[in-house]
Amino acid sequence: MKTPIANGNLFILAAPSGAGKSSLIRALLERHSHDSMQVSVSCTTRAPRPGEVNGEHYHFLTESQFKDKITNNEFYEWAHVFGNYYGTSRTYIEQTLAQGIDVFLDIDWQGARQVREAHPSAQSIFIVPPSLETLEQRLRARGQDSDEVICSRMAKAQAEMSHYHEFDYLLVNDKFEQTLAQLEHIVFAQRLKLGLQQVRHAAKLKDLLANGG
Ligand code: 5GP
Repeated sequence: MKTPIANGNLFILAAPSGAGKSSLIRALLERHSHDSMQVSVSCTTRAPRPGEVNGEHYHFLTESQFKDKITNNEFYEWAHVFGNYYGTSRTYIEQTLAQGIDVFLDIDWQGARQVREAHPSAQSIFIVPPSLETLEQRLRARGQDSDEVICSRMAKAQAEMSHYHEFDYLLVNDKFEQTLAQLEHIVFAQRLKLGLQQVRHAAKLKDLLANGG
């Protein structure tokens, strides 16, 4: 494998359940599959939903397996969300960024705080739905949860949204294609930041400035 000229960028995406975060990430990766970006697959203790595949949507663990990983410092960040544990593998993040691949973390605000602390150059993006009505419709359209669960998720969505101001970017996911384009702008602008460009184009910059002044 070729040694990368610069480390990958880390992007944190947070949103209340139903804001469209997973679909946006999936569309971004499909569109740019050739383009050195991946989404981190989290570990969780929650039960798989219908259609969810172990290792693809999440690594499904028992509580005792999860707690062992906490003890062994195997998580880059972890949090207790909606009564279950969720965490991001430290090894995966470190190895993937070191290969020059951009990594997207689909995590909650508690995890986002920990990642900002560990990796201050991480760019954090918060996605909100256009309205509470739309959010509820989207949650119901999934057809996976009971009324009681939907009500509880609506309350938790508002709790999650109350942290939007801790993030670098705010996207309102009204029109999917437009939000996707906005997400692309953030990702591609980040790749052009001076520090990264200096590393990538070190030789060129040296030539451009040779014998100058
Ligand atoms: P769900 O159970 O609906 O897939 O996810 C519930 C919440 O947990 C979402 O807000 C999701 O972003 C968050 N989440 C998923 N994986 C992780 C993780 O690895 N760490 C943290 N902190 N939150 C996560």
